Amino acid sequence: MVQALTTDEASVTNQYVSFQPTPRTLMGPGPSDVHPRVSAAMGRPTIGHLDPEFQQLMDEIKSLLRYAFKTENKLTLPLSAPGSAAMESAFANLLQPGDKAVVCVNGVFGGRMAENVRRMGGELVLVESPWGSPVDVAAVAKTLAEHGDAKILAFVHSETSTGARSDAQALCKLAQEHNCLTIVDAVTSLGGIELDVDGWGADVVYSGTQKCLSCPPGISLITFSDKAAEAVKARTVPVQSWFLDLSLLMAYWDGDGGRTYHHTAPVNAMYGLHEALLMLHEEGLEASWQRHADMHQKLASGLTNLGFEFVVEPEYRLPQLNLVRLPAGLDDAKARASMLANFNLEVGAGLGEFAGKVWRIGLMGQAACDSNIALCLAAIQSVK
Ligand SMILES: *Cc1c(COP(=O)(O)O)cnc(C)c1O
Repeated sequence: MVQALTTDEASVTNQYVSFQPTPRTLMGPGPSDVHPRVSAAMGRPTIGHLDPEFQQLMDEIKSLLRYAFKTENKLTLPLSAPGSAAMESAFANLLQPGDKAVVCVNGVFGGRMAENVRRMGGELVLVESPWGSPVDVAAVAKTLAEHGDAKILAFVHSETSTGARSDAQALCKLAQEHNCLTIVDAVTSLGGIELDVDGWGADVVYSGTQKCLSCPPGISLITFSDKAAEAVKARTVPVQSWFLDLSLLMAYWDGDGGRTYHHTAPVNAMYGLHEALLMLHEEGLEASWQRHADMHQKLASGLTNLGFEFVVEPEYRLPQLNLVRLPAGLDDAKARASMLANFNLEVGAGLGEFAGKVWRIGLMGQAACDSNIALCLAAIQSVK
């Protein structure tokens, strides 16, 4: 029998012991609470990544992803890297050096999209909107009219740094009118609010696992429309990133006639993703969106009663990411540390121009439930 060592014993025998994190309730900007079904799935035996059973799992993941994204796109797959890599992959595959890309920036993640264009040698045209506001559709229309040679329109649907939702449908429509391909960041959207890839005619859309899917961080999800796939095929310059090159990845993820080794998929992480997608399918997309909306209403009225004000106007608020201004006299860092110590509750701090002034309270995936809201309001009451 191996017995667990106390920290004191460990210091005399062996300095290193297994890591035992304190269970937390995660109500920040991600990662969100992982459902026990997902954790259990990830603990199942590791099998080879070219094992026929694993290949079957890969096919089912692709099909469940099409359901979650609301798309028929053949090129729909997970990437073995976090959301930031999916963002990079979207630009790496679509953009060739010298291509003009219009990037909308209304928070941190739009800024990262712009940085991708700069680093890949694209010609960057920025459309900036204030933090906490959605992307200004009229400003985008004007910019696209002025830049008839733009190839890409990129924007963040759910800006996790500010809690604002942009009008993805209107932006995709504009892009089509101006013959641009869209790159849509839906990392925080998927499962939390309406996302309709085919209905909106979006071209490249990516998401993550650790926001409204309640899966651990580390992998991401991406889908390419036929039009986007053709643009990738028509490239004259190879995709600069070997790892994120879509054509190489598809030889691995595609079911048609045998799979070619590309990299070793994180097998157990894929079990977790499959379980999370299965749970979304069981609940139903629309029901999941509705649950997020309902829970947001409950949390919002509790927070308002406690003296917090929302920064984002009601019609643009993300239910899954609540950005609230701290009431006067509340010490940001001290209050969050106290809630973590006494309630095991994590809420998110403000980023960039919001640092120290706001909290970002996540209601993502499994975390969007009555018991979490009660805990969160009780914790906040204790530090006020
Ligand atoms: C979290 C997030 C990302 C990055 O995802 P990682 O998994 O942290 O790399 C990108 N875009 C948005 C909008 C996000 O919220």
